[in-house]
Amino acid sequence: MHPVALTTQGQVAVLTFQNPPVNGLGHALRAGILSALDRALADPAIAAIVLTGGESLFSGGADVREFGTPKSSMSPNLPDVIRALDDAHKPVIAAIAGHALGGGLELALGCHYRVARKDATLGLPEVKLGLLPGAGGTQRLPRAIGVEAALNMIVSGAPQKAAAFAGTTLVDEVVEADVVAAAIAFAARAATERMPLRRLRDIKLPSAGTDAFLQFARTSVKAAAKGLPAPLACVEAVADSVTQPFDEGLRRERAAFFALMNTPESRAARHVFAAERAAGKLPDVPSDTPLRPIQRVGVIGAGTMGGGITMNFLNVGIPVVLLESSQEALERGLATIRRNYDNSARRGKLTADQVAQRLALISPTLSYDAFKDVDLVIEAVFEQMDVKESVFRQLDAVCKPGAILASNTSYLDINRIAGFTSRPQDVLGLHFFSPANVMRLLEIVRGEQTAKDVMATALALGKKIRKVSVVSGVCDGFIGNRMVARYGAAANALIVAGASPQQIDKALERFGFAMGPFRMGDLAGLDIGWATRKRRAAEAGVPHEPTVADKLCELGRFGQKTGAGWYRYEPSARDALPDPVVEQLVNEYRAAKGVTPRKVSDEEVVQRCVFALVNEAARILEEGIAVRASDVDLVYLNGYGFPAHRGGPMCYANEVGLFNVVRALRGFASEPGAFDWWQPAPLLRKLAEEGQRFA
Ligand code: NAD
Repeated sequence: MHPVALTTQGQVAVLTFQNPPVNGLGHALRAGILSALDRALADPAIAAIVLTGGESLFSGGADVREFGTPKSSMSPNLPDVIRALDDAHKPVIAAIAGHALGGGLELALGCHYRVARKDATLGLPEVKLGLLPGAGGTQRLPRAIGVEAALNMIVSGAPQKAAAFAGTTLVDEVVEADVVAAAIAFAARAATERMPLRRLRDIKLPSAGTDAFLQFARTSVKAAAKGLPAPLACVEAVADSVTQPFDEGLRRERAAFFALMNTPESRAARHVFAAERAAGKLPDVPSDTPLRPIQRVGVIGAGTMGGGITMNFLNVGIPVVLLESSQEALERGLATIRRNYDNSARRGKLTADQVAQRLALISPTLSYDAFKDVDLVIEAVFEQMDVKESVFRQLDAVCKPGAILASNTSYLDINRIAGFTSRPQDVLGLHFFSPANVMRLLEIVRGEQTAKDVMATALALGKKIRKVSVVSGVCDGFIGNRMVARYGAAANALIVAGASPQQIDKALERFGFAMGPFRMGDLAGLDIGWATRKRRAAEAGVPHEPTVADKLCELGRFGQKTGAGWYRYEPSARDALPDPVVEQLVNEYRAAKGVTPRKVSDEEVVQRCVFALVNEAARILEEGIAVRASDVDLVYLNGYGFPAHRGGPMCYANEVGLFNVVRALRGFASEPGAFDWWQPAPLLRKLAEEGQRFA
């Protein structure tokens, strides 16, 4: 298919982009637009030109498939194309349906006039990738809608409907439908009425009154940006649209764009964008694998997780059969779901009708017979193998052939669970994170025998319920919990060495974690980790050597829920207060181990905790538990509060340099009594030696 179709209607040439799926402005399309434009400009029978993506979509912006390749910057680049529009001696009209985003909107801004369908979305989302619009967007949009509105749009990156711009120079005509026909009529009129070639670049913005606004914007954006460079660069570029001649503004914008491209923050944001696109793909599961229909779901257990899991399906209109072991537990679970929805209604996020519709999709039950015709069951019962066994044996007996049987287990062996059924190919893990109706992460755990179409169906379902899905192989704790165990162990060892929970939490929060490990532990409950460590010791046939955290649990300090853990909490307050009891317990622990406390720097805290994550992740990759390094990043970003602007632990390790990571790990591993897991993973060593990065 040619990237641009050139047709004519009377005196009007219509240039239609044909680069599915989103008319990304890749090299071929950019070159195609220029050559079709040149033909139309040279043709004496043509008096006006319409630029369009047809009735479904104008352009989603840059072609992400060309990101990081030479094609992305090969000439003609987008500014070249837009300059040609600016220079056109015949009127050019953009006909916009669907989306005009990023470079797509900048292209439209380069046209003389714009006709848009009222529901089309217009936006410059570059800031979300740590960038600013680099093809004139920051100079032309203020000239079209005013400095204040443009600044808000560019700094937030939030798109808006075309209807909102009726009456501005951004959209000359808003139509209900048939935008291409409307634009052709507009173009014909522009030609016959000899309408002026209105270039946004020729508009002079008044500087009076904008100084104060720009100063206010600088202060408020700086405060909100938390050190990210892109939002402030957006403000400065918009300011240039007022204070600088147009061409100088363009030049500065382009320079700022390339400078931002080279910041770690933008690299991280683009990495995450690409990671999310890659995560849904499995090398051995073709994208056209037929899916199993999921029209009715069963959930077992209406506790913390089961309730949240249920809400995910209700929210997208999928009915749920919810099973509990007692009427009382069932009613408690239903009441929690109802309360959550009522809270959303109170905050104006749902109407009373929507709440009623969602609740009506639940069929509560105490009997497995109700699962006869469900397409998928997810169990979220107690984390004990014997309970899981009884559940899966019953499911195997009642569920129809082909039904997918899933466990929400945090740690247990999915292969063993599959072995409780006569259909291991239909069994997998669907590991949600708490609160399951809020957290974006879903680990899809692939058993040894899980069928490919079950994996494909789970990935599609993850998308439908708006999760970031990452596939994990079977191991204790899967990707996320296996890594967090090392992170926790590194943090605990720092306490023994001489740091306080407060120091460690603060250091990691300054690094950007939403919450340090000890505040997080108190929130999640320390008893879970305690039980896991005891189980692991028992499984390994070694005596359980209590950690400081275990000693806290022995005192009944499970965290916020018992009013004390690593910190103490005032009744009905969440502030983590330092507790002399903990200090004393830690001192006793050190004394018993013969440790003389030393000073620990904040930098060491970050290195040990984050490199422990990186090293375990390298083993996870080596063992094939994770498919790709960027999957690990998504797990950590979406499930464990890793700072988004650092792109996840693997992206961060790349930024630090793997050589430096390995060197630090070697140092930790060589200390007397060091855990053997401080030894750098073979994969990490190999990449470091070869001067490579996690790909
Ligand atoms: P929970 O104790 O809050 O809820 C478990 C529910 O299951 C209870 O309501 C209980 O009555 C019910 N139940 C127990 N046995 C049953 C049976 N045989 N049949 C029917 N119902 C039964 O526990 P939870 O925190 O929701 O955890 C559930 C599962 O999810 C566990 O496997 C856990 O490891 C996993 N998980 C928990 C979290 C978390 O943060 N809580 C996160 C991810 C995964």
